[in-house]
Amino acid sequence: MLRFAPSPTGDMHIGNLRVALFNYILSVQNNEPLIIRIEDTDKERNIEGKDKEIIGLLDLFGIKYQDVIYQSDNLKYHRAMALQLLHSKLAFNCFCSPEDLDTKRDTAKSERKAYRYDDACLGLPAEETIDNTAPFTVRLRKPGIAITFTDLIKGEMSFEPDDIDSFIILRADKYPTYNFACAIDDMLADISMVIRGEDHVSNTPKQIAVRAALNYTKEIQYAHLPVILNDSGKKMSKRDDASSVKWLLEEGFIPDAIINYLILIGNKVPQEIFSLQDALKWFDLSKISKAPAKFDITKLRFINREHLKSLDDVELSRYVGFADKEIGQLAKIYLEETSTTKELREKIAAIFAAKVMPQEFQEGGEKLKEVLQAAPFFEEYEAFKDYAMKESGLKGKNFFKPFRILLSGEEHGPDLALTYPLIKNYLTEIVK
Ligand code: GLU
Repeated sequence: MLRFAPSPTGDMHIGNLRVALFNYILSVQNNEPLIIRIEDTDKERNIEGKDKEIIGLLDLFGIKYQDVIYQSDNLKYHRAMALQLLHSKLAFNCFCSPEDLDTKRDTAKSERKAYRYDDACLGLPAEETIDNTAPFTVRLRKPGIAITFTDLIKGEMSFEPDDIDSFIILRADKYPTYNFACAIDDMLADISMVIRGEDHVSNTPKQIAVRAALNYTKEIQYAHLPVILNDSGKKMSKRDDASSVKWLLEEGFIPDAIINYLILIGNKVPQEIFSLQDALKWFDLSKISKAPAKFDITKLRFINREHLKSLDDVELSRYVGFADKEIGQLAKIYLEETSTTKELREKIAAIFAAKVMPQEFQEGGEKLKEVLQAAPFFEEYEAFKDYAMKESGLKGKNFFKPFRILLSGEEHGPDLALTYPLIKNYLTEIVK
């Protein structure tokens, strides 16, 4: 079983989508189900409706899963397991106040040492704590030996007990911390492989430590994906518009192209343009580079254009608000100068919009408009153009500029001889 475990705390980031995609691909390749686990235990940070939004995006991107579960539904198990760890003395109650802990943290900082919990409450005799009404957390006793695992991308990883620390598993409100809930949930769902972002690497030994303390022996394979960097070489964050999947879709990047791009970066692939179905056949997780991947919107634009080019005409026309073969063909001509459906939509909309003539062509343009509106139907572009030229009496630039604007809404653009066959049936809606 594999899982994609988003937190419903914000817009879906391209890094999350990449994680979801890789989990999906591996679930297909390994012939194991994929579940979606909404990690909603951090109540303060949850945003209403984000879970549904994330699931909607997974559906849009064709990521298939067996089930959606909510981490909060496992709360009773989180608490039961914490109790079990307390009984086996592998966890302990900690009465240190947040203020005391802050003071210790500040001291460590001033001594330029990494802060570690000092196990002050480890081994407190029960009779000393039984009447204590102060709020308390529950901590997992730090392991006695280093924890090692082999990451499928990063290789051998080893963490000393001090790196793991006697960390909190239940907060004072008796809700689990992320590491504890995650470790238990992966165990309960019989997860075999965890693919997630590199930012979780230091969490992994903690999660392994939780399961080891519970005597869970199944080994989970881990793959931590390198981060995606922006233009200035920094980790892509909310401040980078392109980091939001929603933004990319609004800008007119289509799901197939975004998928192609996210599989391509930081990877060795047999071809540059491919579908998710293709990638299922050859994707190899071990070929993912250890180095961070760099986000390059120019490349994404190129890939988007290639995917748009390969769409069926009617399908392409749907992206620009029609369901029409000829408009699809027209849009394909405009793909020479555009890369996104948003840009395409603007071009097609301009063709059908009321035209604005520059001052110098206003008089001629008005006359030409009347000529075109009254013109009979012409099958051929040349005949149509000759007729318009003759009837309007306009010549050279004074003819061609307003002629182009009336037929396309723009002063520059593709050869009208190419677009005319596709717009000739709509002239009454176009020339206005
Ligand atoms: N909820 C975590 C996140 O969104 C993912 C944790 C995990 O995959 O283990 O970053």
